[in-house]
Amino acid sequence: MASLNDIRSTFLEYFRRNGHEVVPSSPLVPRNDPTLMFTNSGMVQFKNLFTGVERRDYVRATTAQKCVRAGGKHNDLDNVGYTARHHTFFEMLGNFSFGDYFKTEAIPFAWELITRDFGIDAKRLLTTVYHTDDEAFEIWKKVGVPEDRIIRIATSDNFWQMGPTGPCGPCTEIFYDHGDHIWGGPPGSAEEDGDRFIEIWNVVFMQNEQFADGSMVPLDMQSIDTGMGLERIGALLQGKHDNYDTDLMRALIEAAAHATSVDPDGPQKVHHRVIADHLRSCSFLIADGVMPSNEGRGYVLRRIMRRAMRHAHLLGAKDPLMHRLVPSLVQQMGQAYPELGRAQALITETLKLEEERFKTTLDRGLKLLDEELSGLDEGAALPGAAAFKLYDTYGFPLDLTQDALREKGRAVDTDGFDAAMAEQKAKARAAWSGSGEQADAAIWYDLVEQHGVTEFLGYDTEIAEGQV
Ligand code: ATP
Ligand code: MG
Ligand code: MG
Ligand code: MG
Repeated sequence: MASLNDIRSTFLEYFRRNGHEVVPSSPLVPRNDPTLMFTNSGMVQFKNLFTGVERRDYVRATTAQKCVRAGGKHNDLDNVGYTARHHTFFEMLGNFSFGDYFKTEAIPFAWELITRDFGIDAKRLLTTVYHTDDEAFEIWKKVGVPEDRIIRIATSDNFWQMGPTGPCGPCTEIFYDHGDHIWGGPPGSAEEDGDRFIEIWNVVFMQNEQFADGSMVPLDMQSIDTGMGLERIGALLQGKHDNYDTDLMRALIEAAAHATSVDPDGPQKVHHRVIADHLRSCSFLIADGVMPSNEGRGYVLRRIMRRAMRHAHLLGAKDPLMHRLVPSLVQQMGQAYPELGRAQALITETLKLEEERFKTTLDRGLKLLDEELSGLDEGAALPGAAAFKLYDTYGFPLDLTQDALREKGRAVDTDGFDAAMAEQKAKARAAWSGSGEQADAAIWYDLVEQHGVTEFLGYDTEIAEGQV
C-alpha cells in the first residue's frame, strides 16, 4: 500500500517528468503578506508570478504545500472531527503554469495522473466546470468523461478570484463518488455538503483580470493553479473513505490511543481525530515561528491548542498529553518537513507549558459550564454573559465553548457574547481617558492583570486571500 509519503513523491515526480520545477513548500506564515493569516493554498507563494510582477527561471512549478485553514475566510476548524475530509492542517499538492500551458494541457495532466498513474476508477469520477466554460467542458469530453458526468456550476465555487481585484477565472473540479451508502449529493445539489461525493482536485484557469470599476478583461498571460488534498487522494488510494483512516493520520490517532488507553474506534473516536488534527496544525505553526499569544496568529494557535486540550481532557488525560505525541508526528512527517525535527524541542516545550498553564482554568471552566447548563431549559442556548465569563476568567476562546456545546446539541448566544465583550472594552476605554502617560501605563498593566489582553485580532481579521 502506498503511504502518504509515497503518494506525495509520486505526484511531484509526475510533474517533474512533465517539465515542472519541484519547489519546496513555503512557510505557513506568508512572507510579505500581512493580509493573509496563514498560507491556505499552494498558489500563495506564487502570487507575484501570476500577476507578472515577478519572473523566475521556470514557468512550470509543482509543490506539496503546508496549509492551515483555521481562521479568516477559509476556516475548517469546526469541520474537524465531523467530516471525513477536513483538517485544520493539510498538504495541498499542486501544479502551476505561469503564462505557459493552459486548459488543454492542465486537464489531461490531472486526468492522466489520477486515472493512469494512480489507477483510480474513472467510472467513479465526476467533474464540474463553470457554467459558461464550454472550452473546459469540451476538453473533459475529449479525455473521455461522459457528458452526464460533467456538471456545469454557476456559483462562485467554480469561479476563482485572487481578491476583489486582480487575476481571476473559472475553475474545474474533480470529485470521487464513494458510493450511496454514504450521505451526500453530487456537486451543485442541495446535499453536496455530505461526504459521499468528495472533491479531490481543484484546477483554476486564470484568464481574466478584475478591475475596481467592475470591468473584467482577458489577461495577456494565462496561468494555471491547481490544488489537491494529499490526505484526500491518499484516502482513495488506500481504499478508505475517511482522511483520518490514512496511514499517517492513523499513526497519530494510535499514538493518542496508546497514551490515553482509550479505544481509537470507540465512542470517543471524535476526540482522537481532533487531537491528531490539532497536533499537526499546532506543531507546524510553532515550527514556522508562531507562538501562542492573545492576538493575531498567536491567538489562533492558542485557540487550536486549547481546543485540543479539552478533547484530551475528555479522554481522561490527567497530565499534559499533546507534547507526548510529538515524536510520532516527527517520525511520520519529519523527513518531508525537516523543520519539524529542528523545532522538536520547541514544539514539545511550548505544547507542554501551554497545557500546564491552561489545566486548572480548563477544569474550573468546564465545571462552571456544566453548572450553567444544568440551569437551562433543554436545548436552550448558553447565555452570552456565561460564555463571556468563560472567555474572560477561564481563558476559554468562544469557539472552544461552542465546540463543547455542539456535542450537546446546544449553541451560544453570540450576540450576548459580543455585547458583553463590547461592554468590557468600553469600560477599559473609560478607565484610560483623562490620565497622564504614566498613569495610563499603570492602569493598562492593572487591566491586563485582571482581564488579560482582550484586544485580539483573532476572530474578525478579514482577509483578502488566495484560495484555489
Ligand atoms: P471543500 O469544498 O471540500 O471544503 P474546497 O473547495 O474548500 O474543499 P479548495 O479551496 O478548492 O478546497 O482547495 C483545493 C483542494 O484542497 C481541495 O480540492 C481538497 O482536496 C483540499 N482541501 C481543501 N480544504 C481542505 C481541508 N480543510 N482539509 C483537507 N483537504 C482540503
Ligand atoms: Mg472548503
Ligand atoms: Mg469545494
Ligand atoms: Mg474547491
